[in-house]
Amino acid sequence: MFPTECDVVIIGGGPAGATTGSLLRKANPRRRIVILEKSRFPRHHIGESTLPEMNRILHKMGVLAKVEAAGFVRKRGITYKWASDKPPFSDVFSEGVLDGLVGTPEHVPDYSWQVERSRYDAILLGHARELGAEVFEGTQATGLLRSGDRIAGLEVMREGRPSRLSAEFVVDCSGQSRVLSSWLRLDKQAHALGDLGIYRYYRGFRWSSDLVGSLTASRIFFQAAPRGWMWFIPLSADLVSVGLVTRREFLRRTPAVALFDEELATLPEIVGMLEGATMAAAPADPDPTPRTHTIADWSYSHAAPAGPGYYLAGDAAAFVDPILSSGVLLAHQSGLSVANAINTHWTAPDVSEAELHAAYAEFYRDLYGGFLKMAHWWYTRREVGIDEWLKLARELGSGAVGAQEIADSDTSSFMTFAAGFLSDFRFVNVGCGFGDKGLGLSVDGVEGTSVGHKLHLELRQRSIRLRSKIKRMDTSAYLATDIGTDRWWRLPVIHLHGEQGEDTYRPPVLGKPHSDEWVTTCLRAIERVLRCCDGSMSLEQAVDRTVATFPRKDWQPLRKLCDLVLAGLYVKGALERA
Ligand SMILES: Cc1cc2nc3c(=O)[nH]c(=O)nc-3n(C[C@H](O)[C@H](O)[C@H](O)COP(=O)(O)OP(=O)(O)OC[C@H]3O[C@@H](n4cnc5c(N)ncnc54)[C@H](O)[C@@H]3O)c2cc1C
Repeated sequence: MFPTECDVVIIGGGPAGATTGSLLRKANPRRRIVILEKSRFPRHHIGESTLPEMNRILHKMGVLAKVEAAGFVRKRGITYKWASDKPPFSDVFSEGVLDGLVGTPEHVPDYSWQVERSRYDAILLGHARELGAEVFEGTQATGLLRSGDRIAGLEVMREGRPSRLSAEFVVDCSGQSRVLSSWLRLDKQAHALGDLGIYRYYRGFRWSSDLVGSLTASRIFFQAAPRGWMWFIPLSADLVSVGLVTRREFLRRTPAVALFDEELATLPEIVGMLEGATMAAAPADPDPTPRTHTIADWSYSHAAPAGPGYYLAGDAAAFVDPILSSGVLLAHQSGLSVANAINTHWTAPDVSEAELHAAYAEFYRDLYGGFLKMAHWWYTRREVGIDEWLKLARELGSGAVGAQEIADSDTSSFMTFAAGFLSDFRFVNVGCGFGDKGLGLSVDGVEGTSVGHKLHLELRQRSIRLRSKIKRMDTSAYLATDIGTDRWWRLPVIHLHGEQGEDTYRPPVLGKPHSDEWVTTCLRAIERVLRCCDGSMSLEQAVDRTVATFPRKDWQPLRKLCDLVLAGLYVKGALERA
């Protein structure tokens, strides 16, 4: 029976919707979570090359083993053919910086997959259903229910019959349909990159291991074309997805099929791999005739991806040109963050909805922002050469704690980026460590990881004397979330004023972070240890003297906190050796 009310209704059963629904149900088995999907799965979808970073979310959802068991082609890296007269750039993730450095648990692989989206999405949606989300396929959201300023549910069309479904929250995961933002007429920003995708499938292609690796260790192949770029994504030993990202303006002179053929003809590598191959129908396309597909590919974002009673996730919130295959990862990441926001609303009344909305907007901007900058560079400056692009990846991560230590070259920075570990790069803004658990690192610091070890090596000489350059400190708060938690947390941020100029620092909050009282204790310890850094006493004495002013039971976490803060501020240049 179709319900008339629920706690959360999600529009769309793609990766964003399935992630939001699964995680909400996992954390709240008694809540009623409804997913509406207008099509019937399995349905065809583009967006087939995925990034390893999403594995941690699949693991959290409990669906990783099912995806692994589906037998998709494993993706281990990428090859970019940048210019016809240049050799291709090719690298694999595990030779970048993933191994050990991000501390990915052993059961979470550091490869991803090139997926038939019809099967991938069906696995995820089926999983959400198993977790107790009520999934209604063939059911379209057609309008909004409102209660004053708040969105209060949806008008729905199901089997030709209209109905109404009220809900505390509506989450729009409708992909490029962006239904909620168009009903609400939300402002959106367009980003001038490619704006049109034209693609086909072929059977019987030739694996060229130099360009695309092997079936168990494949690489996505990108090639720059005169009017855009093309992808070559093997989906099995036999089937390959080949696409062109270009601009709609070229259609004025050339029809899509001819445009595709003309660009393809300029790329001998792809032509070579397609020798003897024949065009095939798209996976799960109800039309079995092989054909050329076209789809909008313009990049956009919404400044306000949340408001009273609603959240936007996945493509419904923002779309970034697929040059770095980021869309599915962003769908999973935003689904996770929205589920955590709604959980926070239910479990932490001290965190206001407005705060959550602002934090989610900032978080999402950070997430897609890095991919957007990389894509924008590609469209505007690519003639400079790929080396500069790799350098940009390094620059984007340069402020993240530990990023410099991990990524010892532009290439390894880029491969970290290309594996999707941008979410760790975002800790440039939220101040957490570069590592496997995001918020966990913010809470527990980076000590014990290889990154932390490198960072703190110098400060392990506990006899060194430090002098603080900080004249004044103010504190405020920010909200953070990540894979290691089901909610958003309010954490402190310190604004530093001093000889080193103005800066902000987001300290770790060790041990028992989840109370305002403990956060206050941590901030007090930070103030005291910095006061001891006047050049007169050793690091050890400064820390000992500080912790001695607190109850003995708190000494251990506070000692670790002081060590980490001194290391962090030393790296930032707010402390110097006396
Ligand atoms: C040309 C091109 C190439 C791409 N290549 C890649 C790639 O290689 N790798 C990558 O990661 N990403 C790629 N992407 C992006 C990727 O396709 C998307 O980012 C991803 O699918 C977003 O997931 P989602 O869950 O937000 O939306 P979707 O997967 O689009 O799911 C939205 C769902 O909502 C349903 N829906 C829509 N309206 C309604 C309604 N009113 N009521 C009920 N249901 C509704 C739809 O039927 C659909 O199932 C590419 C995109 C394009 C255009």
